[in-house]
Amino acid sequence: MEIDKKNVNLLLWTSGWDSTFRLLQIILMEKKSVQPIYIVDKNRKSLKNELEAIQKIQDKIKDEFPEAIDLIQPIWFVEKENLTENDEIGFAFQQLSSMRKIGSQYEWLAQFSHHYDLKNVEISVEKNLDLNSFGNFIKQNYLEVNPSECSDKKLYYTIDTVFKYFHFPVIYLLKTKMLSIAKENNWLNIMNLTWFCHKPKNNLPCGKCNPCMATIEKGLSYRVPLTNRILGYIKIYKNKLKG
Ligand SMILES: [Zn+2]
Repeated sequence: MEIDKKNVNLLLWTSGWDSTFRLLQIILMEKKSVQPIYIVDKNRKSLKNELEAIQKIQDKIKDEFPEAIDLIQPIWFVEKENLTENDEIGFAFQQLSSMRKIGSQYEWLAQFSHHYDLKNVEISVEKNLDLNSFGNFIKQNYLEVNPSECSDKKLYYTIDTVFKYFHFPVIYLLKTKMLSIAKENNWLNIMNLTWFCHKPKNNLPCGKCNPCMATIEKGLSYRVPLTNRILGYIKIYKNKLKG
């Protein structure tokens, strides 16, 4: 498929809360065109739910904001297993993951961007108050750092090798702030169709996987059905005891 790299915002869209918020911000506030990118991982238990959510969200946008629907380009589906591997990215990612916990998706998202020669690919990492969070790590050691003045240049350039392809448009927004902006702009019917759980139980959010626990802890617990939410609270409590 032909991608217009210059005149659209390239957005990694998972159908989740943060990236759907960003999609709405682009088309409804900035009134720009967006090229959503969805990376297909056939082993993902939530693949079907995410693809359904992507369809439902687009249908709802069409109902509620018909004037904006044409700003969404046909989704670019990329097969994860067909991506080529660049050794430099692989090596830098290994170094970063030996230092701290870092999601493996960032490596293949970088490989994908490198493969297609993309820049400014929007990745929706939200503001996180936890000082040890990935968002804070990337802010403190990369986004808010001037490479000519920073004390750990090696770290800066290792991060740069993996993350130079990306732009982080919602990194200063908490999930709850997105919720209030969504309410003010009548986006909530759309936002409530987002899918976040990685291990759905009877087609409902499980409460216990990482994205479910993050949803519960970060002020959006209403998105997880009550019984599963309680399981989530128990797991969060147990994790805290373990430290
Ligand atoms: Zn879950």
